[in-house]
Amino acid sequence: MQTRKLERGGRYFISSGKAQDAVDALVKKVKKFSKILASFDAKGVKKSNDFTFIISYGNNSIKSKNLILACGGASYPSTGSDGSGYAIAKSLGHAIKPPIPALVPIVLDKEYLKELQGLKLKNVEASVISSGKTLSKEFGEMEFTSFGVDGPIILTLSRLISEEISGKKLILSLNLKPALSKEQLNQRLLREIDKIGRCHVNIMFKELIPVQMIRSFVNYCEINATKRCSQINKVEREKMLNGFFDFRFNMIKTKDLKEAIVKRGGVVTDEINQKTMESKLVKGLYFCGEIIDVDAPTGGFNLKAAFSTGYLAGSSIG
Ligand SMILES: Cc1cc2nc3c(=O)[nH]c(=O)nc-3n(C[C@H](O)[C@H](O)[C@H](O)COP(=O)(O)OP(=O)(O)OC[C@H]3O[C@@H](n4cnc5c(N)ncnc54)[C@H](O)[C@@H]3O)c2cc1C
Repeated sequence: MQTRKLERGGRYFISSGKAQDAVDALVKKVKKFSKILASFDAKGVKKSNDFTFIISYGNNSIKSKNLILACGGASYPSTGSDGSGYAIAKSLGHAIKPPIPALVPIVLDKEYLKELQGLKLKNVEASVISSGKTLSKEFGEMEFTSFGVDGPIILTLSRLISEEISGKKLILSLNLKPALSKEQLNQRLLREIDKIGRCHVNIMFKELIPVQMIRSFVNYCEINATKRCSQINKVEREKMLNGFFDFRFNMIKTKDLKEAIVKRGGVVTDEINQKTMESKLVKGLYFCGEIIDVDAPTGGFNLKAAFSTGYLAGSSIG
């Protein structure tokens, strides 16, 4: 039997750390009371006159009184959830909200990316800004990649912006010192300048931001890096403070569905009985998991939704 371990943020993981062990444990449990048809690729479903479903796969078909569509969404198709479940649901009369990427990395304007690629940031605050308005804000971890940004807080932000990004100018703003007020950071800068006034500006930044970020940060703030700290004037200090609290990048787009961990859209929830997961349109048809137009932030909530709706659909059939 698999044991579990509790990690930071109240998250449980399989002790072995292997996802396959979770799959094996679930399959073993299901096999105790059910037959599993492996490599079963449903091509289509028809409802016959005697109210049974005829499910075709390969050159064969099987009949069933009830059917649970648990085909997943359309993101990360390499895992098998390629959107074919939507075609089946549609053929049975259900409306599908077109899927769009939800938890997905974000592509940024190329500026600074060459220097920042691979840099991981912890305890930063990232905001998405449109026409001067903050749409969403997240605190935590993120990383720069060759194309833009990824990591927990970016994925969470992407969930809310994938609908917004088309045709709009969106900005990603990083607060590198979210625990400090502007006045506290100003005092810290003044202390550093006082301490190492004869050193170049670059040296001072080593105390304040990751070394890999210094070059792009200095360029962003339009500071001459070869200046000595004691030569920094009030206007330049103000520019630095703005840089620390509001380091901006232009967003181009989110990555597409095939790189999204989760999608938005799917079988519309109005057509599903939330107490049983049965279709309100087709008797004996049930839905569970990501095929439904439900999505959640990172943190295990999508798996939880899949397990809970799966349990509900299964126990409703009896
Ligand atoms: C890389 C990655 C990381 C993730 N990390 C997390 C995380 O940390 N926390 C979290 O909560 N969620 C996470 N998710 C999302 C989570 O995995 C999904 O929300 C969840 O697996 C959805 O479960 P599901 O059973 O609805 O669909 P899926 O797990 O996608 O399973 C659907 C199954 O149906 C099969 N199928 C599809 N079409 C057919 C067909 N026509 N005939 C027969 N079979 C078919 C597929 O092959 C697949 O096996 C992650 C997803 C990815 C891709």
